Amino acid sequence: RDVVSPLPEVDETDIEASLRPKHLSEFVGQPKVREQLQVVLESALRRNRPPDHVLLSGPPGLGKTSLAMIIAAELGAPFRLTSGPAIERAGDLAALLTSLTEGEVLFIDEIHRIARPAEELLYMAMEDFRVDIIVGKGPGATAIPLELAPFTLVGATTRAGLLTGPLRDRFGFTAHMDFYDTDELEHVLTRSAQLLGVSVTGDGAAEIASRSRGTPRIANRLLRRVRDFAEVRADGVVTSQVAHDALAVYDVDELGLDRLDKAVLDALVRRFGGGPVGVSTLAVAVGEEIETVEEVAEPFLVRAGLLARTPRGRVATPAAWHHLGLTPPSSPSA
Ligand code: ADP
Repeated sequence: RDVVSPLPEVDETDIEASLRPKHLSEFVGQPKVREQLQVVLESALRRNRPPDHVLLSGPPGLGKTSLAMIIAAELGAPFRLTSGPAIERAGDLAALLTSLTEGEVLFIDEIHRIARPAEELLYMAMEDFRVDIIVGKGPGATAIPLELAPFTLVGATTRAGLLTGPLRDRFGFTAHMDFYDTDELEHVLTRSAQLLGVSVTGDGAAEIASRSRGTPRIANRLLRRVRDFAEVRADGVVTSQVAHDALAVYDVDELGLDRLDKAVLDALVRRFGGGPVGVSTLAVAVGEEIETVEEVAEPFLVRAGLLARTPRGRVATPAAWHHLGLTPPSSPSA
């Protein structure tokens, strides 16, 4: 996997855990989400009741898992983590739900990928803190209702629109996470550098931030690679020159585009003349699932002003052509 992928690397779990903000006050950026969440949590604490279920949406690496853990920490509640694809049968979910203790925060990552029968069980659990366990088959089957301890579900998804209506409606609070701007990423980097004991200058942090694809996970990863380079090739201090040289060695694009972003742009421009082209055709051309192209690559390409979604399909902007070192075709005179 390439160094600027927004998805976690396999061996990255421990280091990510050590860099995770533990409290809301340490969580950088997303000011609106933070403020709203603060009110939700404080009012729950005052009423001494678990808060409403929370849905967090946004591209990978922006801090959804961190925020879910913070919710539990701020409430002083235990935390449990699972994911939609891990819950294959309703029975798996029933077992998990009945084992929750009062006030526990259950985090379900990629909740839009939960199996349908499990999702239906979740409706009643979220609404009434109850599940029906079906015993037996056919006409003799009976539903045994089981009370659950009141809990808070925190669901994460790349886009709220991927959830079915009934599931989405059962969340009392929905927060959308957006890409971070360069200042916010600099802040994330300065904090991480302190935790890792790396010395980094303001310019050094700025250089890394501008190539981090608006994503804290990528910023933290690039910081570690640049630190390695600084230790081996320089005197250990991450200056903008060191960051610049290191990122050139790791082939990190000035905009931080990863392999999938580049493949999408390349196909759009070189194979489809800049579009418009349908997203399914584009996905086939880069050998990825439509969902990955739409949820992982496109949001950042749109935000970076390289790709536009039009009713007729995806279109490369002139900036995309320039980024690939090509001249955009002169605009067609209608
Ligand atoms: P997601 O669940 O959205 O994929 P994570 O919560 O796993 O993202 O975040 C990935 C990494 O990025 C974490 O290890 C954390 O160190 C860092 N991170 C994310 N958001 C922030 C933030 N707002 N402030 C500081 N670090 C952050």
